[in-house]
Amino acid sequence: MNEFQLIKRFFQQPNLAFSNAYLRQGIGDDCATFNIPSEYDLHLSLDTLVEGVHFPFHANPFDIATRSIAVSISDLAAMAAVPIGFTLGITLPSKDEAWLKHFSDGLAQAAEFYQCPLIGGDTTKGPSLVISLQVHGITKAGEGLKRSGAHVGDKVYVSSNLGDGAGALPLVLKEPRLNTGLAEEFYKPIAQIEFSQKIKDHATSCLDVSDGLIQDLNHICTASNVGMNINPDLIPLSQLLVETYGSEQALKYALTGGDDYQLAYTAKHCDHGICIGEVIAGGRVNVLGVDIIEGGFQHF
Ligand code: ADP
Ligand code: MG
Repeated sequence: MNEFQLIKRFFQQPNLAFSNAYLRQGIGDDCATFNIPSEYDLHLSLDTLVEGVHFPFHANPFDIATRSIAVSISDLAAMAAVPIGFTLGITLPSKDEAWLKHFSDGLAQAAEFYQCPLIGGDTTKGPSLVISLQVHGITKAGEGLKRSGAHVGDKVYVSSNLGDGAGALPLVLKEPRLNTGLAEEFYKPIAQIEFSQKIKDHATSCLDVSDGLIQDLNHICTASNVGMNINPDLIPLSQLLVETYGSEQALKYALTGGDDYQLAYTAKHCDHGICIGEVIAGGRVNVLGVDIIEGGFQHF
């Protein structure tokens, strides 16, 4: 099987490389081509996942695929953009057909779920597995949510439970193929595309929580030149996380762990999501009763 046969067989499948209203040319020419009507903005974001760094060695290829797409599309959700297609750069140590089959099945499932087809890419051989995805999405012109719009007096919201991704990490590092319970949150986070469409007309700023709530909210504070007071008692934690680790460690994961892929946003008022605090003057995030130190935090 040469490179072209590999691309045709595993990446150019109808349930993965499907078309939509914006795609003029998908896989098979020198470039993929979008036709974007002038009343839309095109948003794009690139993520690279390295085996042994962003997911464990020997993880299930189906799970690697679903995780790769979810974490990439999460950036589109953060802008309230609707996905229209992604490209895939993949470096493979070998042409393992069974591995490729499971990987492309995972891609196809996620591509269908997010209605985001594979439109092109590049395939190379190399010493270790590296996956780069560029995702593309659209909003009405000027309506993409940014980190810079928060105002003093706004409230701070999150879309759902935090901490599950960080709580799952020690489990999948110990057992890379575990993909049920908390581990499912690691391999199959749901990018909040649907949720972002509900808040897009209310939110003044937004991002996806990938590096831990405090660090990510600080990005909004910096971009918007505001501060925040967060009430830790209002932070939503899953029952599973609290049962597995106890409430103190669960909150620690929620505040400083990563890999949640929920949205954090500010709004004057919003009926969707969970309010966890308010925007104040200043430049930093304060968490009530918690002493935040460099690279983590102390107390409880
Ligand atoms: P070129 O030599 O012009 O870069 P390639 O031989 O790399 O073209 O790719 C041929 C076609 O297959 C192109 O349309 C490219 O976008 C597509 N392609 C290559 N690798 C992938 C991949 N991993 N996923 C999706 N499409 C791919
Ligand atoms: Mg190429």
